[in-house]
Formats: sequence, C-alpha cells, structure tokens
Amino acid sequence: MMTMKCPRCRRGNMYKDSNPFRKLKLSHIFNMHEHCPECDQRFDMYEPGFWYGTGYVSYALAVAVSATTFVAWLVLIGVSFRDNRVFYWLGVNTFLLIVLQPWMMRLSRVIYLYFFVKYDPNYKVNSPQKLHTD
Ligand SMILES: [Zn+2]
Repeated sequence: MMTMKCPRCRRGNMYKDSNPFRKLKLSHIFNMHEHCPECDQRFDMYEPGFWYGTGYVSYALAVAVSATTFVAWLVLIGVSFRDNRVFYWLGVNTFLLIVLQPWMMRLSRVIYLYFFVKYDPNYKVNSPQKLHTD
C-alpha cells in the first residue's frame, strides 16, 4: 500500500510519476493512470465524485502523523508544562504535515481505493472489478 501500487494486482503503479514532490501542482500530484497498466483495473470507478471520501482518509492520516510525532517527541525530547517544548512540537508537526501533504494526498487515495478493490491473485485470468454502474 505504501508503494502506491494497484490494490488488485499489487504490481501496477497507480501514479504516472512515482515522485509526488517533483512538481507541486495538484494536477501533477493526482496524475494517475486511468486504468492499471498491469491488470487494467479502473481507478476512478466511473463516478465523478468518487474521490470525495478521501478527505476523511487524509484527515485520519494527519491525525495519525501528529500522534506519531507527538509520541516520538515525548520519548526523545519530552513535554513539560514548565517550558515551551510542546509548542516546538506543534511547530515541527505543522511543518511536517505541510511538507508531507503531497504524499499524504496520494496515500489517502491509495488507502481509499483499497477499501473498494480487493486483491486478486488471478488478475491475469479474471476481469477487472466493477463496483458501481456499468
Ligand atoms: Zn493492477
């Protein structure tokens, strides 16, 4: 999942350029293949608003990242009410969330699609999944 591969065959790349940071434009970050290059699974599921649900996924991701950095901060640096260390964490965490944004936006789509498309070891024989209309 972390390698942004197709959920069905786990081989084909979902994104045309594997580096989301190469160009910081939405059109580049979301530059996906329409179909999996390996198994022909369609990625947008025929529905124009299909990706709206990814907002919740990226929110959950942001919370998960924040929780992780907070625990790491707690262990490595420590948090106290007597000084400003917790605010440094807040700053570092905010910075990290901004920097990771392109990657998180992509990952949230990948995670979202994994809810809908099941892994199929016989993807070469079976036809791609159809989940909604058509
Ligand atoms: Zn595939």
